[in-house]
Amino acid sequence: MIPFEKALEIVTETDCRRMGTEKIPFTESLNRVISVPVFSDTDLPPYDKAAMDGFAARKSDLGNDLDIIETIPAGYTPLKKTGVNQCSRIMTGAVVPEGADCVVEVELTEQLPSGRIRVTGAVRGSNISFRAEDIKKGDVVLNPGKIIRPQDIGIMAATGQTRVEVSKKPWIGIISTGSELVEPGENPSPSGIRNSNSYQLIHQVSLAGGVARYYGIAKDDEALTFSMVEQALSENDMVLITGGVSMGDFDFVPSVLEKAGVKILFSSVAVKPGKPTTFGIHENAILFGLPGNPVSAFMLFELMVRPLICKMLGSDWKPLTLNLPMKEGFSRKYTERMTLIPVSITPDGMALPVEYHGSGHLTALANTWGIVMLPVGARTIEKGELVSVRQI
Ligand code: AMP
Ligand code: MG
Repeated sequence: MIPFEKALEIVTETDCRRMGTEKIPFTESLNRVISVPVFSDTDLPPYDKAAMDGFAARKSDLGNDLDIIETIPAGYTPLKKTGVNQCSRIMTGAVVPEGADCVVEVELTEQLPSGRIRVTGAVRGSNISFRAEDIKKGDVVLNPGKIIRPQDIGIMAATGQTRVEVSKKPWIGIISTGSELVEPGENPSPSGIRNSNSYQLIHQVSLAGGVARYYGIAKDDEALTFSMVEQALSENDMVLITGGVSMGDFDFVPSVLEKAGVKILFSSVAVKPGKPTTFGIHENAILFGLPGNPVSAFMLFELMVRPLICKMLGSDWKPLTLNLPMKEGFSRKYTERMTLIPVSITPDGMALPVEYHGSGHLTALANTWGIVMLPVGARTIEKGELVSVRQI
C-alpha cells in the first residue's frame, strides 16, 4: 500500500502520450483544450463607441446650447465632424464622430424650442469606449492549455477566429468486471446488481475531455477478461477497468493485466474509499484498475484519472477547492489511510458531511458537492474547523 500522494505523483509524472492537435469550427469547441494561441484580427472596440444614448459633443462646449448636426444610429458611419457648439444625436454602440470627446446621456439634456440641445446636469466621464481599449489587433486573446468555455467562444466570435486548434481527444476504453452485473435496462436476478460504474465513467471521461469506448461487462472469467482487456489496450490511449482488483477468488484483473503486458506501478493506495486502485503502463496505453465499488470508482477517477487525462490534453485544469468551516465534527477510529469525506455545502457556507454508509452507497454522491481529504494519522475534525473542500 503506498500513500495517496505518492500514487498521485506516479500518475501525474507518467510519461504519457501528449495528444496531437486538430483544427475545428469554433462553434464545436466547447470544453476542448486550446493548443495554439488565439489572436485577435481586430481592435476591440473597433472604433470609439458611444456607451449611452445621447449627444456626442465637445466637453468644452457643454455650458452652451448645441446645434444638432447629424443623427448617428448603430451601424452608421458619421459623415460630419463635431465643431464648436455642435452635437450629433447618437445611439449606444454607434461610432463617435470626429471632433467629439464625450457623449452626454439623453437624461441630462433638454431640447429647446429652437431645436437646440441644452445640458441640464453634470456629465461624468466621457461615456465613450475607446478604440482598442480592450484588445489590440494581433493581441493573444486565448492561451494554450485553456479549456474552452462559452465566453471563450464569444471571444473567438468577436475576434473573427472561426476555427481553433485544439488537442485531439484521447480514446478511453471502459470495461466493468463482475459476474453479478447486468446492464441498467435489465432486471437483476436475486444475486445480481446493475452496472453503474461504466455509465458513470463514460460521462466522467466525457467531462474530462476524452472519448469513451465501452466494451461491456467482463464476467469473472480469466480468458474472457483477458481478451477484452487486450482489445481495449490495443484500441485506446487509456483503459479503465473496474472491479476484480481485490483479493477474492474471482478477482482476475491483476493476473490478466500481467499477461496482457501491463507494467503495474502500484496496486494498493492508502485511501478510503479506493484502496484497490491499480495503475500501470502498457506499450500502447495507460491502464487504471479502479475499485468495483461505485463511490470509490467515482472518486478515484476524479482524483487520479482526470489529472492524467488533463496532462494528455495539455490542459491547465485545476480542481476547485474552497476553505470552509465544518458544520459538524468528524472522527474516525483507524488512521492508516487518507479518508475521503463526501460533503455538501450548507446555505450558510459550511461543509456538512453527507449521510454515507460506505463505498457502495452511490446515491450519497447525488448530495455531494466535494470531498474533505483527512490525511493519514489525523483522527478528528472539530466542528467549526476550517477544511479544504475539493469539488468532485
Ligand atoms: P469487486 O472490486 O469486483 O470486488 O467489486 C466490489 C463491489 O462493487 C461489489 O459489491 C460489486 O458488486 C460492486 N461492483 C463492481 N462493479 C460494479 C459496477 N460496474 N457497477 C456497480 N457495482 C459494481
Ligand atoms: Mg467483482
